[in-house]
Amino acid sequence: MSENIIIILVIALVFVVLLLVGVILYLFNRLMKEKDMTQAPEHSTEPSRDLKKLKERMEAADVNYCSNHPQDYAKGMCSICQDCFCEECIKEHDGLTFCGPHFRVFVSHEWVELESIMTTPDTPETAFPIYDFKKNLWEKEGLPAIISTHYKINIDTDTIESYVKLLVRTDELDSLSERYNKFKH
Ligand SMILES: [Zn+2]
Ligand SMILES: [Zn+2]
Repeated sequence: MSENIIIILVIALVFVVLLLVGVILYLFNRLMKEKDMTQAPEHSTEPSRDLKKLKERMEAADVNYCSNHPQDYAKGMCSICQDCFCEECIKEHDGLTFCGPHFRVFVSHEWVELESIMTTPDTPETAFPIYDFKKNLWEKEGLPAIISTHYKINIDTDTIESYVKLLVRTDELDSLSERYNKFKH
């Protein structure tokens, strides 16, 4: 009878020991997995690959090609048609860039300021009417207008102010002013 009790006790003890070993192994395994997960970014090449991809994508978005020479990188945008052109095609004057034909339009007319709007990095939308008006004039009627932007640091408020100016041909100033004022509202 006592022999039976000892056998049952031994079996129970073995069972308990096996259970404990199982629990310890399970916890150890989990701990190792967690450790692997926290270390994963250091060992994996994924983040750097993602960064490279992102950089490539950003560069691709940035790179424009010349409207005349599709194989050449664009150096700038024409202030009148807003197409992009390569170093060979682009012409610069007074900080403005033009394609060949529109450079001739620029130098053969007198230009006058129709509107000037101050914007800050927090309020870029205040100049939207200028951009929209210019775009409409060019795309719907082929009327040239030029946007020139000047930057100024305001020491008092410690902000960068930009002055977005719309230039039109002198002989069109009156009619375009009237239209612009209607367009704004
Ligand atoms: Zn142009
Ligand atoms: Zn070109």
